[in-house]
Amino acid sequence: MPRQFFVGGNFKMNPISRAQKKIIINELNAADLDPNTEVVIAPPSLYLLPLKDILRADIKVAAQNCYCKTSGAFTGEISPAQLADAGVSYVILGHSERRTLFHETSELVAQKTKAALDGSLSVILCVGETLQEREAGQTTQVVESQLRAVVTVLNESDWGRVVIAYEPVWAIGTGKVATAGQAQEVHAYIREFLSTAVSTAVSENTRIIYGGSVTASNCKELSTQIDVDGFLVGGASLKPEFVDIINVKR
Ligand code: PGA
Repeated sequence: MPRQFFVGGNFKMNPISRAQKKIIINELNAADLDPNTEVVIAPPSLYLLPLKDILRADIKVAAQNCYCKTSGAFTGEISPAQLADAGVSYVILGHSERRTLFHETSELVAQKTKAALDGSLSVILCVGETLQEREAGQTTQVVESQLRAVVTVLNESDWGRVVIAYEPVWAIGTGKVATAGQAQEVHAYIREFLSTAVSTAVSENTRIIYGGSVTASNCKELSTQIDVDGFLVGGASLKPEFVDIINVKR
């Protein structure tokens, strides 16, 4: 079965006002979107429920983070069970901003991934190397170790609800997009890794999407790469061009 193209919009801690958010949602609601592409948007958690209420039914919502416990004394955290109960479909985990600014280790990301899947969410699992790591020739090593932590705690059947987002840290929010060749090389490596570390079926069926300065003008070439199954879009997901990115395969 071909892998369904996937486009996620990661709003991060943007925009500030509810009014601005409404403008973005209205544009998406009115747009003619490719029905063959799965679309998910991740607003700040405060807006997940109100936004879900006004959003068209064919676009899903994702949390930008969750904790690895179901409930308890964890001030400031949201559990996978709470997200699932609220009708949230996906959660983004392991984003480089969480790994770097909030010191999340690959082991914690793996625990969160397992907890989210056990709590019936789907997971957008982010991996990627820094510029320093790329320049030191460590890209595949870094990506592999981030993935290996997750492989260790998941069952083969868990992978059906995981989308891997390859997001080179040097490309996130910098305007410096990876070339189609650079993205394809790492995506192919990830697929090969899944085939040896998990199974051929998981390797063939898991969607591997690219993130990092994706725009309407650079997404076309990236989308033609054999192992690029979609995008995780930050800055451009807040702009009208997000619709063009969603429709890139048309
Ligand atoms: P960007 O962010 O598109 O603004 O580079 C991507 C991401 O962080 O997911």
